[in-house]
Amino acid sequence: MDIFRICFSLLFFFMICTHAVSPPNFVLIFADDLGFGDLGCYGHPSSLTPNLDRLAAGGLRFLDFYSTSPVCSPSRASLLTGRYPTRSGIYPGVLYPGSIGGLPLNETTVAEVLKPLGYATAAVGKWHLGLGPNGTYLPTNQGFDHFLGIPYSHDMGPCHNLTCFPPDIKCFGSCDVDTVVVPLMHNQVIKEQPVNFLELEQIYSDFSTSFITASAKKKQPFFLYYPSHHTHYPQFAGPGAAGKTSRGPFGDSLLEFDSTVGKLLSSLEVNGVINNTLVFFTSDNGPSLIRRSHGGNAGALRCGKGTTYEGGMREPAIAFWPGTIKPGVTRELASTLDILPTIARLAGAKLPQVALDGVDMIDMLLNNGKSKRESMMFYPYNPSEKLGLFALRLGKYKAHYYTRGSTLSSGTPDFQCSALSVLTPYNPPLLFDLEADPSEHFPLAADERPDIPALLERIDKVKAEFEASMVFGESQIGKGRDPRLEPCCSPQCMPKPHCCRC
Ligand code: MG
Repeated sequence: MDIFRICFSLLFFFMICTHAVSPPNFVLIFADDLGFGDLGCYGHPSSLTPNLDRLAAGGLRFLDFYSTSPVCSPSRASLLTGRYPTRSGIYPGVLYPGSIGGLPLNETTVAEVLKPLGYATAAVGKWHLGLGPNGTYLPTNQGFDHFLGIPYSHDMGPCHNLTCFPPDIKCFGSCDVDTVVVPLMHNQVIKEQPVNFLELEQIYSDFSTSFITASAKKKQPFFLYYPSHHTHYPQFAGPGAAGKTSRGPFGDSLLEFDSTVGKLLSSLEVNGVINNTLVFFTSDNGPSLIRRSHGGNAGALRCGKGTTYEGGMREPAIAFWPGTIKPGVTRELASTLDILPTIARLAGAKLPQVALDGVDMIDMLLNNGKSKRESMMFYPYNPSEKLGLFALRLGKYKAHYYTRGSTLSSGTPDFQCSALSVLTPYNPPLLFDLEADPSEHFPLAADERPDIPALLERIDKVKAEFEASMVFGESQIGKGRDPRLEPCCSPQCMPKPHCCRC
């Protein structure tokens, strides 16, 4: 072997070794109220989602992926902690601008798992895990070096400043009027109040690409958490997307979100880190069907936001990592709960020493292997120890112990989804085969299937074991609200909340 070939072999070996010890980066993209049927790659006929479709074509697309709650805040608590929201106390419902509580600081977030390994961390977009006195619960106190975003939902303020492009066309519906106008925050400081929604996605994507570039230049591993406001009501889109789809305001805001996904991918490519980055995309809960054609779409799944039917909690999800994750589609069971353990294992980080509900997805992602997850629990938006689980999925079967419709899912012809469908207990539980009947229309009857009593016995056992292990954390949302905690750029001004404009 000549000297040139020896040198080349040594260099190659060095590169492999360097790559092997270089920890991967993580980009976690989270949509809001986006349904199972909303993306082009999940079968929507008129959505324009070329970048998410590209992500799906080059990555692993999940068909049986679940969030832990049919509403925003609890779902986000699970995503960042790997625990059902009953443990962290993010229930009932969601946090508001003046909420006293928030994600408890003793909960360990994905960002806090990665910080000891030297990761740069940023949260960009919708936080919705609390603000509290002096910004106690903001991302910068939860493991994130940077935060640029709105600390809660963008309908939690008088949103008459929300218009679609062109600016004289109003967005659809009403917002909360007796609170401060929606602020844009940088770390703990209010940067703009009210925020200009039509520039927001651009500001977010610029900040995110700068963060990726700066981290890549420093050769520092990074974690970017990008929870977008899209496609939560009320819809908005800047000039690059408004009026550009045939689906209307929802399609336009989805297109704007999709464009951001494209910009993030380009930034990873340009900075030469795309082959060392896991990009994971999913959504917090199902579509807000009460918004009719201005809300999302659950595809073949029943109902949507606010319910424990499949449409409320089964989400589109994609894992993308060129050269590491083989493109494909998986029917393996997985959840937002599994993201923290997966990231921790890929980074070589320690798991928090708490009761974790997530399991890592390593074999699924890297080896086309099986999921470690056998079951999925369904709590309503207002869980209680008294009622316990509303439903449980074991393998391909789902048993409903209670059903209830929701205002947020009213608006379709299906009565069971609407607010008029009251709490209904089932004993024995209502049982569905989600492979034969993903729409949960045809309950299995014991007299038709001799194996059903034994199956129900197994499901009851899994439920009893899980509930025996569940310790409800103190309700953070139950601590109530104090209007003085609402973020105000001019703290001494009067009269509030209307004077909080800068
Ligand atoms: Mg949501």
